[in-house]
Amino acid sequence: MLSVVIPAYNEEEMIPITVSVIDKTLSEADITHELLFVNDGSKDSTWEKITEAASSNTNVKGVCFSRNFGKESAIFAGISEAQGECCVVIDCDLQHPPEKIVEMYRLWEQGYEIVEGVKRSRGKESGLHRFAAKSFYSIMSESAGFDMSRASDFKLIDRKAMNVLLNMNEKNAFFRALSSWIGFKSIQVEYDVREREAGVSKWSTKSLIKYALTNIASFSSAPMQLVTIMGLIVFVVGLGATVEALVTFFEGKAQEGFTTVIILQCFTGSFIMLGLGVIGFYISKIYEEVKGRPRYIIDKTTY
Ligand code: UDP
Ligand code: MG
Repeated sequence: MLSVVIPAYNEEEMIPITVSVIDKTLSEADITHELLFVNDGSKDSTWEKITEAASSNTNVKGVCFSRNFGKESAIFAGISEAQGECCVVIDCDLQHPPEKIVEMYRLWEQGYEIVEGVKRSRGKESGLHRFAAKSFYSIMSESAGFDMSRASDFKLIDRKAMNVLLNMNEKNAFFRALSSWIGFKSIQVEYDVREREAGVSKWSTKSLIKYALTNIASFSSAPMQLVTIMGLIVFVVGLGATVEALVTFFEGKAQEGFTTVIILQCFTGSFIMLGLGVIGFYISKIYEEVKGRPRYIIDKTTY
């Protein structure tokens, strides 16, 4: 059986469409499947729509979180609840073309354990968004050690890989990168990102920035090393300034260096603050992990 994991946050308009489209596509291809919706604490009637769909279609199942835990948590909950021998993670807004699921499933039948959906094109986005996404992915690619620029959450993973992912204790797990990091026999399938069918994107600029920073921190400690490098640079500059100050002192015209002192003070001060900020950010992430709170809390299910 194939489990289709669908995270849903405020997607009331999309649920009925998504159910009928994916169910039809998979039934036509003769693939036994379950559609597992994870309601990520939606504020609209998403959960009612899921229960409705579940009562009229036995292939549909739903899990409801006690509050919004974010898409990553919803994906992991879906993988954990899935009963299939493999599962596909797909967005609720049909931006990931459902007919590709069939293609992915056929590849899985041929023995591939991870089938990654990669974006051929990114769909409509503003210039700034495109730039931010590009920077984020180049940092991520650098720290994860493989090309992430076209990666997405649209993936098929085998039971073996599902179990590996579920046994990872990371709270701030970044599904897109982790599912490549674990290895296994993988292959890529290209797809074009479509327009959203209904509703709006669920990400605000603030939540995207937070998401990017958390994921960079979970895969890379480069920002902390950056602090050391900045410290070294300031040290070298300071050394130069000290020599200069001593020279002017012995030449007997010491009071001139006032501007230099102010500039140096400002620079060192700000670098120290920045450095403390970065370290603080990592400590807060360590703190979160150490507390060992669950990734999500399930309130109710349809089964
Ligand atoms: N989503 C979620 N929890 C959130 C935000 C989003 O489960 O806190 C789901 C959303 O319902 C959708 C998927 O994640 O199925 C992708 O969200 P969206 O389409 O808003 O993102 P975009 O396509 O704009 O990147
Ligand atoms: Mg979308």
